Amino acid sequence: MKIIILGCSNSFGVPVIGCNCKICKSSSPRNKRLRQSIYIEDDDVRILIDPGPDFRQQYIKNNIEKLDAILVTHPHEDHIGGFGDLRGISFISEKPVDVYMDAPTKEIILEKYSYIVNKFHTNKGNKSKILNIHEIKANQSFTINNLQITPFKQNHGAIDSLGFRINNFAYSTDFKTIDKENYSLLADLDLWVVEAMGYKNYPAHINLDEALQLIDKFRPKKSVLIHMSHSIDYSEISKKLPPNVIAAYDGMQITI
Ligand SMILES: [Zn+2]
Ligand SMILES: [Zn+2]
Ligand SMILES: [Zn+2]
Repeated sequence: MKIIILGCSNSFGVPVIGCNCKICKSSSPRNKRLRQSIYIEDDDVRILIDPGPDFRQQYIKNNIEKLDAILVTHPHEDHIGGFGDLRGISFISEKPVDVYMDAPTKEIILEKYSYIVNKFHTNKGNKSKILNIHEIKANQSFTINNLQITPFKQNHGAIDSLGFRINNFAYSTDFKTIDKENYSLLADLDLWVVEAMGYKNYPAHINLDEALQLIDKFRPKKSVLIHMSHSIDYSEISKKLPPNVIAAYDGMQITI
């Protein structure tokens, strides 16, 4: 399984508009972060999680050629802001884009993106729907071309987000806590891609200390920190991390 970190920022992106802090002004490419999104390739299955506001440039920059499915963790704008750009994919492929989300996310997508939901377009004479929405539920596994995916509930302040377990890999962004009943889904991992938003205490997100405590609890073989704000300097955080934990950067590729 190959994973590409397409973006590893929190909702603001790094640099933050108008910010003059050391990290936003840094010339290091590792301190330039697009909004959080990842791409997963396993045999012939290609999946993207969260088409955020930087989706179009992430797709082009990483030479993504096709997607079998798009998974959505939750309906905050930094995770769904690229939905309008899914029109391009269905226009060229003349097929609807298969998107997987839970009921609360679906409700918001139907409202915010009503101009593409249930609409059709015609490219080379073939009429095609733009989206094919699949409703998923926490703890109910589903498959995409035989690849099994198990979504699980994460508590993200006022709402819930979905984490995803795929084989020996798990993805957890945008959460404050995970219920004990889901701990088994984070056991025996080769790789956990997990949020570490910054150093402060956040009501709906985990900080670096909280991420490291959870890593210590679940003991994945390797962890990659994501959804990082402009408070995190790549080279400084990299010096502090335990050997099995690394900070993400945009374009990072990991094979497990
Ligand atoms: Zn977010
Ligand atoms: Zn800044
Ligand atoms: Zn969020």
